[in-house]
Amino acid sequence: MSQTERTTSPETKASPWWQRIPLTLQILIALVAAVSVGIALGAGNPNPSNAALINNLAIPAELVLKALRALATPLILVAVLHTLMTTNIPGTAGRRLAVLLLTNTTVAILVGLFVANVLRPGTWGNVNTSTTTAITAQSLDPWGILKDAVPEAVLKPLVDNNVIQLIVIALSFGIVLRGLKSEQIAQGKNGFQPIEDVIGILFEAVVRVLNWVIALVPFAVFGIVAKTVAMQGFTPFKSLGAFIVAVLLALVLQACYYLTRVKFGSWVHPLKFLAGGSDAFLTAFSTSSSAAAMPITFEVLQTKVGLRESSAALGALVGANFNNDGTALYEAMSALYISQVIGQHLSLGQQLIVILTSIFASVGAANIPNAGLVTMTLVFTSVGLPTQYIALLVTVDWFLDRCRTAINVMGDMTVSALLDGKKPHSVDEA
Ligand code: ASP
Repeated sequence: MSQTERTTSPETKASPWWQRIPLTLQILIALVAAVSVGIALGAGNPNPSNAALINNLAIPAELVLKALRALATPLILVAVLHTLMTTNIPGTAGRRLAVLLLTNTTVAILVGLFVANVLRPGTWGNVNTSTTTAITAQSLDPWGILKDAVPEAVLKPLVDNNVIQLIVIALSFGIVLRGLKSEQIAQGKNGFQPIEDVIGILFEAVVRVLNWVIALVPFAVFGIVAKTVAMQGFTPFKSLGAFIVAVLLALVLQACYYLTRVKFGSWVHPLKFLAGGSDAFLTAFSTSSSAAAMPITFEVLQTKVGLRESSAALGALVGANFNNDGTALYEAMSALYISQVIGQHLSLGQQLIVILTSIFASVGAANIPNAGLVTMTLVFTSVGLPTQYIALLVTVDWFLDRCRTAINVMGDMTVSALLDGKKPHSVDEA
């Protein structure tokens, strides 16, 4: 770490020893400790005298989930406003970019839902559903969705956790602020600057609070796993294992889709794309953050894959802010998985609502670790799924986040390759 970073980051300097243990390791330690405690408390045959203690083990996970739900809407709002105010999107290329982003994300969600519908991972183990509230039956009502997309008050979506309304508000104000900024720049004014700075600071603030919550995830994992093992033994983990396999399979299928698109829609050879992008994929996997991988993605697209700077910038720097296909796929699969776990069938109409909200939730998911887990609460709310079941997913999110982040980055790179077109750099510029 450089001297400047050290002086500007007092949190790092003052961090206690346990915060210096990587989060993944903390979670793994929590898992091992939780399994031991769960076995000691009965492993499926709990002693009734321990009932209160076992129930209280779920408290950290409940608190973490409440905090994640509370942070979801402000995170989406400031992330979208921040991106719209600070990125540079040229006109026609911007429209092409939007179409590519939308198609890739829709395909990702369809792939996820397809795999989850075929493998039905939620039915592979018996998870106790006694504490669940039933899903309110909802059928697809396009006019209802359209009518509901406009909130009754500007701040209402923030309170109601309504992701579609929130994105409508965020996009409207973001586009207007962006327009005002361009007008002011053209007139040589800079009145927009304080607003841009405030939005930037608010974004940073929400991310820092989110980091506090994430720091508590090992406790949540410990509590929820210990409680589950104590009450139900290891059966529920069979279904979680099946869920991991299903998500990995869907992510691999999505990667195949990208390679096919690259092969037929750009001049880049898929193998060169894979080899050239490896540094970016590995950075994404090891940091769980496509924002952290962004500079590397931008760099390798130019130096190793050989794309033009403009295409690399549009996909890796601009698109990356909105394009989280791996996240969208994961959120849709999680909703379906939990509906299978609790034995509540999601109708086709409800799955369409899941598709729509997953698109919006992934657009709003910031490119930071666990952001997908935060916005997932909104997808669940949209179809009336109980969000307390996300606690189950917290136990595997540390790993699946890495995998979906690598796919998020691959999606950005695919968009860059497609924008670069069918003629290689040298031929075009010759
Ligand atoms: N960690 C992911 C990313 O940075 C977002 C997510 O949590 O899905 O792209």
